[in-house]
Amino acid sequence: MENKDYHAKKLIVANWKMNPSSGSDARSMFSAINKIASVLKNVETVICPPLIYLESLGEMVTTRSCVLGAQDAFWEHVGAYTGQVSPDMIFNAKARYVIVGHSERRAMGETDDIVNRKIKNILQFPLIPIVCIGELSRDHDDYATTIKQQIHHACHELSVDQINRMVIAYEPVWAIGSGAVRPCTEQECFDVVLMIRQVLADLLSSSDLAKNIPILYGGSISTDNAQLFLVHAGIDGLLVGRASLDPEQFITIIRSAEKI
Ligand code: PEP
Repeated sequence: MENKDYHAKKLIVANWKMNPSSGSDARSMFSAINKIASVLKNVETVICPPLIYLESLGEMVTTRSCVLGAQDAFWEHVGAYTGQVSPDMIFNAKARYVIVGHSERRAMGETDDIVNRKIKNILQFPLIPIVCIGELSRDHDDYATTIKQQIHHACHELSVDQINRMVIAYEPVWAIGSGAVRPCTEQECFDVVLMIRQVLADLLSSSDLAKNIPILYGGSISTDNAQLFLVHAGIDGLLVGRASLDPEQFITIIRSAEKI
């Protein structure tokens, strides 16, 4: 799959995190979303459930418009790694995307080096890494340095073709989840997206190639602000946490993306 394909469509990713608590709830949430998402022409929807539900939801996938992703993958393929799941298992369970480097995992000790190793392993398979980057706070001017370093580390030893297969999710940590300090504005997001594109252009020695890499925004997206971000923040899609757990709200978000 070429990155150009995403640009034709908005990419809307649901990160269900450690929800819901039963497989039957996961199936009814997926079924409600898939019914609408599978007929949208301008949106690709990616549902990232807990790994334990991936295989059974994989059997419910009906179109390429509504597919599955994992929330993480290990950096090795096979072996004595208790509790870990490899990208080939995820691919065989019919997922197409993997979120990597989410701030909640970084807070549990995941380093830039680990994120890079995971990306390299994910790219050995026909899987697309959704690489999360973002600063902890906006109180200091060095947030730009943090973001640049995260991109450089993520892309360490990757070929141009491999970088070209990535999706970047800009998630300012201070604006995500129930601990959000305040909302990120569309302008603040727009400015960072410009900077991310410039960093990618430098890495790829091509601003044309950098334009093809989809950049998502994630952080307190709701039915009220999804369309505003998609129109004004210079992004190619959204990574949605809390609002993706209510199929009705999430469907409103993907429908608003369809109209753009
Ligand atoms: C997230 O944690 O990736 C996220 C975007 O969460 P929320 O939408 O709930 O802020």
